[in-house]
Amino acid sequence: MIDVKHVTKRFGEGQTAVTALGDISLAIPEGSFFTLLGPSGCGKTTLLRLIAGFELPTEGEIALDGDSIGHLAPNNRPVNTVFQSYALFPHMSVARNVGFGLEMLKRPKAEIEATIHEMLELVQLGEFASRRVDQLSGGQQQRVALARALAPRPKVLLLDEPLSALDLKLRKGMQSELKRLQNETGITFVFVTHDQGEALAMSDQIAVMSAGAVRQVGTPEEIYTAPQSRFVADFIGDTNIVNATLLGFDGDKAKIRFGEGTPLTVQTASTSLTPGAVHVALRPETIDVVDEGSDRALLRGAVVDSTYFGAGSQMLVRLDDGVDVHVQVATSRAIGARVGLECDTSMLHVLED
Ligand code: ADP
Ligand code: MG
Repeated sequence: MIDVKHVTKRFGEGQTAVTALGDISLAIPEGSFFTLLGPSGCGKTTLLRLIAGFELPTEGEIALDGDSIGHLAPNNRPVNTVFQSYALFPHMSVARNVGFGLEMLKRPKAEIEATIHEMLELVQLGEFASRRVDQLSGGQQQRVALARALAPRPKVLLLDEPLSALDLKLRKGMQSELKRLQNETGITFVFVTHDQGEALAMSDQIAVMSAGAVRQVGTPEEIYTAPQSRFVADFIGDTNIVNATLLGFDGDKAKIRFGEGTPLTVQTASTSLTPGAVHVALRPETIDVVDEGSDRALLRGAVVDSTYFGAGSQMLVRLDDGVDVHVQVATSRAIGARVGLECDTSMLHVLED
């Protein structure tokens, strides 16, 4: 429904030009909770500002329901934005803040009243309509900002790191709240965060970005269990990345071996990789620690660290080629002990780079 087509955005000219987005293409489905995830400076805010119309692309175009919106000024786009700083009027009442945009649009008074009421019920602030905004908590102010952004009934709501000003406990609560709001309204949410936990918990789909490019798009499960690149594997959670040799392909699977071990057939991000040295992603929770001599051991090394966390321990095993691997275990082994690592080979994944 939102079609970002080969969009490039450069700021400045000549030698000092910054390419904030380089030839980005994305299809954001109607009615979905879609997240742009990536480190600071990767271009998330720039992409939102292009969709909102606060900036124009240097190249490429953005279409909504099939029609280019390039010629539409921000206030003529069926798009609204919730900023990190809520940008509320502190001395005005909650109701006036929520109705402000509708007043600007010169909607009939009765309609404005009804919408304010409906929106405040939606964000569960019904009793606070006449309260001044500066008498509310941070979490309540965030709800007012949401109600105000939803009031003109946009087709698309853009949310630029809206939870980053809240403390951890409030943030968790607002995560489910945002999910519920998106579900109940059916509005397409384009949500920006640099927090991978937040992205995994909330999204229908995630676009992982780095340095002005989209690296991978998929459901949280796809991004978590089948990262295509080192960057995505590293950025999402606590994946181990180990060395292997690519021997060849078997259909859409890769044949690899660890060291001089027996060949294994595993998933791969690409069947056009060159045989030779490759990197393989290995989730800590898919690894079992076995005796070094066990024929189930795929990798071998020595325990270099162990941290007890109640439900078990997190152990750090240094493989014989010097790569460190995190493992979650019920019972820790002594530091210095030689161990073998067994893993569910269906969860192994050859990375593109
Ligand atoms: P993010 O939101 O992912 O942190 P931004 O979209 O804000 O990233 O920025 C992407 C890149 O574009 C950064 O290198 C930033 O410095 C640059 N940038 C953003 N806005 C401007 C601007 N108005 N002028 C010059 N450079 C900008
Ligand atoms: Mg930003």
